[in-house]
Amino acid sequence: MDGGDRGDGGARGGPAICVFCGSSGAVAEVYRDAATRLGTALGRAGAEMIYGGGRVGLMGLAADAALAAGARVTGIIPRFLRDWEVGHDGIDELVVTETMHERKRLMHDRADGFVALPGGLGTFDETVEAMTWRQLGVSDKPIVLANVAGYWDPFLALLRHAEAAGFVKPEHGAIPAIADGPEEAVALLRRLRAARPPVS
Ligand code: AMP
Repeated sequence: MDGGDRGDGGARGGPAICVFCGSSGAVAEVYRDAATRLGTALGRAGAEMIYGGGRVGLMGLAADAALAAGARVTGIIPRFLRDWEVGHDGIDELVVTETMHERKRLMHDRADGFVALPGGLGTFDETVEAMTWRQLGVSDKPIVLANVAGYWDPFLALLRHAEAAGFVKPEHGAIPAIADGPEEAVALLRRLRAARPPVS
């Protein structure tokens, strides 16, 4: 899982940032707005956006805004979901995988770090899997939760509960960093990347 670290490998010299977010668009405007703002922030940072490749929901809003702001956008989608989620045909690259696992692996390998916006079970799964890779030491790529309108507060409370009960060890570094909003999430991820020890 530690392969594929391309340094600040975004097309315009910025980082390649993998975005996890909901495939639903039938959500409060504050979440939709955050997805658009995240895409814009990625473009302004010269970053590449890596994501699940859909054009629906927050995923589509973030991708469209990133494209409009000049970011390179790469989608990675399993074949069976390509039609369901209506794969985005306006992005720079749409990689089609055979399985969900292959998708997550490729998203991880191509990214320098992760930002999780609000989302549903798929977003939880992707975020927790990235956290477990850090816990096991097979990845050191930073993860930032964009805690839009406190969306992640119950999840953070669960993590504190698991830590207090002894099931999660803070020294494993799996607990994500937290930002208030999308712009702060991109800035924080870039600071965390800069603070990482150099790849030998
Ligand atoms: P959601 O947050 O549930 O709207 O899903 C966001 C993204 O996660 C979409 O690209 C889904 O394809 C993906 N996803 C949905 N369910 C799963 C799952 N069980 N495992 C991994 N990814 C999923």
